[in-house]
Amino acid sequence: MNAVPILLYHSVADHAARRDLPFTVTPATLAGHLRVLDERGATTLTVSDLAERFRLGAQVEPGTVVVTVDDAYADTAEVLAPALAAIGMTATVYVSTATIGSTVRDSRMISWAQVRELVDAGLEVGSHGHRHVPLDLLRGATVLAELTTSRALLQDWLGDDVSTFAYPYGFHTPAVEHLVAEAGFRSACAVKNALSHPGDDVYALARVTVTRDTGAEDLAALLDSLLQSPTLPLSTARRRVKTRVWRGAREALRLAHIDIPGAS
Ligand SMILES: [Zn+2]
Repeated sequence: MNAVPILLYHSVADHAARRDLPFTVTPATLAGHLRVLDERGATTLTVSDLAERFRLGAQVEPGTVVVTVDDAYADTAEVLAPALAAIGMTATVYVSTATIGSTVRDSRMISWAQVRELVDAGLEVGSHGHRHVPLDLLRGATVLAELTTSRALLQDWLGDDVSTFAYPYGFHTPAVEHLVAEAGFRSACAVKNALSHPGDDVYALARVTVTRDTGAEDLAALLDSLLQSPTLPLSTARRRVKTRVWRGAREALRLAHIDIPGAS
């Protein structure tokens, strides 16, 4: 049962408001990450493709990685999508529809035209709710309105099915998961900071947050440790050690006596 890293990016920019900075990676850092994925021959799937394979019990090849982006800043279309397309990789981008075309703090959010550009570049667009509010705190009818409004707006604009959702702030409950299914979504991403796997809940898929200090060497260590032992970090997660996946990967490599470039 192979573990699958579902990476969670936010903005890709050199500068950001202080509050957004920890989750903003620089374009240079992103380029380093993508070089690692490319060099290791990683295969990228969209979240919908991965969830469908999990649902069908189909094989997920070792070396599979899923790239996701939450919030959809303009830089997702301007920096990340072209960089992925250049190496033939895909991603799933989760958009909060009420924020489209706006400016949040210091950052421009994606425009409607750019939402279409993502699909044209081979990326998947999913819903991140309408207003980016924590759904676990809202009444059921309000949650359902958030879900159906955002899905309908995206589907009308794209003329295609929008079948995956990501919980704003990662917050979800069984009741919210049920409403996500009721609204017509076939998968949903949580956060958890753990690796996903074929037994994962397709309505609360585990993701690993990429932060400003996640280096190319961290991603390399994670992928190399998975090649050494495809289930090792997964079993760590199952022991309910609060998984620091990045550190766990380095530890796994150290135990396997593999040199990690840059590690002391
Ligand atoms: Zn978000």
